[in-house]
Amino acid sequence: MSESIPEKAIIQDNTIIRGNIIISVRNLVKNYVSGAETLYILRGINFDVERGSTVAVSGQSGSGKSTFLNIIGGLDRFDSGTVEAAGQDISNLSESDLSSYRQRRIGFIFQFHYLLKDFTAIENVMLPAYMTGMKKKEAMDKARLLLTDMKLDDRVDHFPSQLSGGERQRVAVARAMVNDPDIILADEPTGNLDPRNSAMVAELLFAGAEKWGKTLIVVTHDETIACRAKLRYALEDGLLGPCPPEPAALTSEAVTSEAVTSEAVTSKAVTSKAVTSKAGVGERESP
Ligand code: ADP
Ligand code: MG
Repeated sequence: MSESIPEKAIIQDNTIIRGNIIISVRNLVKNYVSGAETLYILRGINFDVERGSTVAVSGQSGSGKSTFLNIIGGLDRFDSGTVEAAGQDISNLSESDLSSYRQRRIGFIFQFHYLLKDFTAIENVMLPAYMTGMKKKEAMDKARLLLTDMKLDDRVDHFPSQLSGGERQRVAVARAMVNDPDIILADEPTGNLDPRNSAMVAELLFAGAEKWGKTLIVVTHDETIACRAKLRYALEDGLLGPCPPEPAALTSEAVTSEAVTSEAVTSKAVTSKAVTSKAGVGERESP
């Protein structure tokens, strides 16, 4: 019989329950091979997050923060280790299962909003839900509710070009939540905003995550945002450690880093189509 309690209990719908842990990363390794050179980006990360928690991850530009987030979100593959998130071991999922995981379990927010320019704010928000089978009216109602949370009641019918940068990011936050994901992953969500808009987006993001019971991981250099999180980590030399007592976030070096580096900007921007599609707001994937 059950003389030993298994560490993992498999329940219906293949959901893995381990205490209240929603993300469990073990010995995560990610390398990039570039010509003859191997870049050792993540060198054996261990990371647990409780359901409903909020986590901030900082680290220098190029330290692997986006890579780490993208792996948890099923956008990037990894070399070794295991990643369990939202009840699934995503280490060996097929492309279609990974796509379904991204659409249903994860809400992404990037430094750039990736809103579809020919769609209004409310249409941008409702689309991921509509595309995954929600009825149009229900999806519109949900989108309207989320836009109200984001204090955009009077902007629902505006197109992205008619919105400010902060408003666009708030639409992106609403969009990330529309499919009721377990986990919100935000990669420098305020990297392009002025301090006032940055603070507003961050506050609404955290408040939204708390209201809807979402687990939130935010990559940020912004000290005021990082302080809002329950847990803080820094990624350095491929490992995740506690944040230094005097975070580098307020130094001029860090402030000017990602918001203005062309590297991060171009790499995401040129793949916007793929990213939006992967995040569930682009074209439908072929069956
Ligand atoms: P961060 O988000 O902390 O700035 P990234 O995760 O974007 O860092 O990148 C970490 C490192 O991996 C950087 O040195 C970057 O140049 C490299 N890198 C990222 N993506 C690739 C790729 N597709 N091929 C090769 N190297 C990459
Ligand atoms: Mg990055």
